[in-house]
Amino acid sequence: MELGLGDKVVVVCGASRGIGFAAAELFAAEGAELVIVSRSASSVNAAADALRARGASVHGIVADLAAADGPAHVVDGVMRLHGRADVLVTNTGGPVTGSALGHDWSAWQAASELLLRSAVELTRAFVPGMQARRWGRVIGITSIAVKKPVPSLVLSNSLRAAVTGYFRTLADEVAPDGVTVNTVLPGYTATERLDELATATTQRTGVAREAVFDRWRAETPVARLGTPQEVAAAIAFLASAHAGFITGQALCVDGGASRTLL
Ligand code: NAD
Repeated sequence: MELGLGDKVVVVCGASRGIGFAAAELFAAEGAELVIVSRSASSVNAAADALRARGASVHGIVADLAAADGPAHVVDGVMRLHGRADVLVTNTGGPVTGSALGHDWSAWQAASELLLRSAVELTRAFVPGMQARRWGRVIGITSIAVKKPVPSLVLSNSLRAAVTGYFRTLADEVAPDGVTVNTVLPGYTATERLDELATATTQRTGVAREAVFDRWRAETPVARLGTPQEVAAAIAFLASAHAGFITGQALCVDGGASRTLL
């Protein structure tokens, strides 16, 4: 299915690896004008080179979206390159692990800046232009944690809920202007982030690394981890011309792991 994004400017954050990179690959294959964002110049350049090698039109922007000036730096770069964004995928790495009582306020603030402020600042900058042009797509990457809190991830469990509340409110406000706003909730997906979580779990609990992965598979009805490409396919569809009647949704791509009725 063609996505109908050939003439669109697509901004994918957190796109040097994992789910963001897999999404960038799909948008590149569609011929979109792609902008990818990540923290280090070497990883952004490597990702952009890999996409260009397949014929993509792609620019890389180096920005730390958790830093005070990170989102503004992305906005400046995109506006200088293209003067607009038609599709915005908000995404960063996840916050640090820890228990409910285990973080001081500075850790909460850092997680808020990483997950919530980046989403708010980027949408506040890009969505008014989408409204004016009567077409836009915002896709926020959150987590299965929104449906089912993940043990020892209180910052993710809490801040992803805040992000979901923000996007759900925004979805209602901009729907009449042709802009859709949805979130995608990955379940256990085979990326470097999951490797890092396995290491943290092993260190915290002493449970062997392979046993940690076995438990994640056992929690997932399809009995395997997802792939970044499977999550990316959902992101690409929500961004597509075909998805104009889908807004305000929180779509689990989790192999059935959330086990909720709705
Ligand atoms: P990942 O850590 O493998 O990749 C994250 C990407 O974001 C990388 O390109 C990284 O360089 C970039 N990034 C990280 N911090 C950044 C910052 N401050 N500014 C700009 N770029 C930044 O993560 P992933 O597995 O691809 O997951 C993407 C998102 O989905 C994360 O927020 C993760 O917590 C969430 N998630 C992942 C899983 C999973 O199983 N992989 C499950 C649920 C939720």
